Amino acid sequence: MFDSLQEKLGGALRRVRGTGAISEHNITDAVREIRMALLAADVHLDVVRELIGHVKEQALGEAVLKSLTPEQQFVKIVHDELVKILGEPGKLPESAQPPTVWMLAGLQGSGKTTTAAKLARFYKKERSKRPFLIPADTHRPAAIDQLLTLAKQLDIPALQPEKGEKPESIVKRGLAEVQSIGCDLILVDTAGRLAIDEEMMAEAARLKAVCAPHAVIYVADAMSGQSALESAQTFHARLALSGLILTKADGDARGGAALSIRKVLGLPLYFLGTGEKPEALEIFHPDRLAGRLLGMGDVVSLVEKVQDKISLAEAEKAAESFQKGRFTLVEFRDALRQIKRLGPLDKLLGMLPGVPPGAMDALNSDPKQLVRVEAIIDSMTPRERERPDLLDGSRRKRISKGSGVPVSEINQLVNNFRQMEKMMKLMRGSGMVKAAKNPGAFKSKMRELMRKR
Ligand code: GDP
Ligand code: MG
Repeated sequence: MFDSLQEKLGGALRRVRGTGAISEHNITDAVREIRMALLAADVHLDVVRELIGHVKEQALGEAVLKSLTPEQQFVKIVHDELVKILGEPGKLPESAQPPTVWMLAGLQGSGKTTTAAKLARFYKKERSKRPFLIPADTHRPAAIDQLLTLAKQLDIPALQPEKGEKPESIVKRGLAEVQSIGCDLILVDTAGRLAIDEEMMAEAARLKAVCAPHAVIYVADAMSGQSALESAQTFHARLALSGLILTKADGDARGGAALSIRKVLGLPLYFLGTGEKPEALEIFHPDRLAGRLLGMGDVVSLVEKVQDKISLAEAEKAAESFQKGRFTLVEFRDALRQIKRLGPLDKLLGMLPGVPPGAMDALNSDPKQLVRVEAIIDSMTPRERERPDLLDGSRRKRISKGSGVPVSEINQLVNNFRQMEKMMKLMRGSGMVKAAKNPGAFKSKMRELMRKR
């Protein structure tokens, strides 16, 4: 989604992340790249200015440069500013007295008909609503059939217009029919044109008067960038829109519209359309979108995958010993085994807050290395495993002989252990280990940490 923006923002942040030490100089560079990424994605100039201004101001503050993890602090600042710009997620208004009526408006080809079906499916499946579809686009010959076909496919009732029936009449009959079949959510699909014209506006306004909707949803094509917002503005002046759904956010839509809506129109974004299929509809979550744009992955699904692979029993055992402040080479070996099981996920884990940069690199090596690590640890005395600080030069030489692994690798192992130890301390401080014992709490803790990043 929003691939090019993602790529550019990711690149700008990698530049900062990879440096190890952040400085005034590379912050300026990174900020400039972020600015260019946003402009290239067709984000409104005012929005870019505001975001960049805030990021720069905070990033150059003492608190960041002097913090332990300036890189992560910087990413967090950008993330939080993106979330702020994206605004609170919108919630489509529902009537206390059913049925709720939502009308869809927008230009031709923006995805109104598809979105009407998507919304009906979503609210039926996820919110236990009983939707009803009214096809009121009588201008495009196939538009009515298109919606009726989707309705049939999704097993959702819809009004069957008569031949040559006017849109007002269709809507009126639809509202009447709903009374008898007991649906509680009515979606009215309307006609659009290629460009805004007075006749279309007048028709939309008449339909609005007839159906008295609880929300007028503007459907905008994300691919059309800022011009989607300009037409939305015209519709808003005439129809008093409630909010927007951005379609075609899949593929290479540049993302500028999504980032500018709140600031430019002051209207909420409800959903993103992410494909042609009826199920390709996502609730708009500002923090998730910001995370995705910054290449932070989808935390929620990441966390689920991690939980899938880590045995809870082992995690609990490990959590207990960490909590007691115990972290020796024995726990290190067990932890390595656990993390190995995650496969490429360890790279993603490396992006989590509290994980020092590079700490996970130690684990990215090939599985054969684990065998050698075990050989090294097995060649130690129990006391050495408990207290790695005992491992002086002569002991390392002895272990090298016993395990058949060169001293340089033993040194490496001790370094990796130290890094991991540091990480464990950080994790202990963050309360994550405690949370790890309870899957629900673990998930929300991860989300919270991610948001704080
Ligand atoms: P309408 O004229 O506003 O009713 O637009 P339609 O619903 O007929 O959609 C126009 C075209 O856009 C169709 O080919 C849809 O399949 C496609 N479309 C709609 N929403 C999306 C979306 O979220 N992603 C993609 N890739 N295509 C979409
Ligand atoms: Mg249509």
